[in-house]
Amino acid sequence: MPGLLLVSSFPSGAPQARQPGIFAPGSLPRRLSASLLDLIFPPSCAGCGRVDCRWCDRCQTDLEQIPPPQVVRPLPPLSGMASTAVHEGKVQQAIWSLKYENAPYLSQPLGDRLANHLRRLDWPVSCVVPVPMHAHRLAERGYNQAQLLAERAARQAALTCRPDALRRWRFTPSQVGLGREARLENVKDAFEADPALIGGQSVLLVDDVYTTGATLSACAAALLEAGAAAVYGLTVSAARH
Ligand SMILES: [Zn+2]
Repeated sequence: MPGLLLVSSFPSGAPQARQPGIFAPGSLPRRLSASLLDLIFPPSCAGCGRVDCRWCDRCQTDLEQIPPPQVVRPLPPLSGMASTAVHEGKVQQAIWSLKYENAPYLSQPLGDRLANHLRRLDWPVSCVVPVPMHAHRLAERGYNQAQLLAERAARQAALTCRPDALRRWRFTPSQVGLGREARLENVKDAFEADPALIGGQSVLLVDDVYTTGATLSACAAALLEAGAAAVYGLTVSAARH
């Protein structure tokens, strides 16, 4: 397939002898406290509230059947722009939980939607880059949902994910409640891309929601400035305008 870059991302050499913290992910105390919490507060499905699982089969089936939006607006300077669904119903609930209810596992069904949609688009992309989150917000949330989505989609599409290629170096207040002009001003020059990682690449830029496109446009501008050949935008959902 032209433009497809297959690069192994396995770490080289022996595993580093780094002592994990007592509550590091996967450590026994962490797993025990997680199981104990599950006993006291049984998990419920982020889509329908059904108790005892975090994402049920019925919600998964519903999610898979949601069609993509009919109209996709062009968004300069991106070479293409697409979303897998309108931002409503089950997709909206799943994204909300992924972002605000500490549900990183929802990046799997949502990331699979991205990979499936990408297959139909037939864009000549060579790597996947998530919209970055500022270090302050990353510290609060513990993960960047756009990165989890990009990593899952890249794995499913056999593409390289480059989360380090784009950096949000200026802290921007939340975009929620701002109009398009205010959002554009808010994110202007907030991003910086690494020419060594991005030069000549045809980039698939991934985010969770497309609202006004201000963030995606600013990211695309930074990637092109760093020498990207082209930038395509793909989000799980798009706000209905
Ligand atoms: Zn459910």
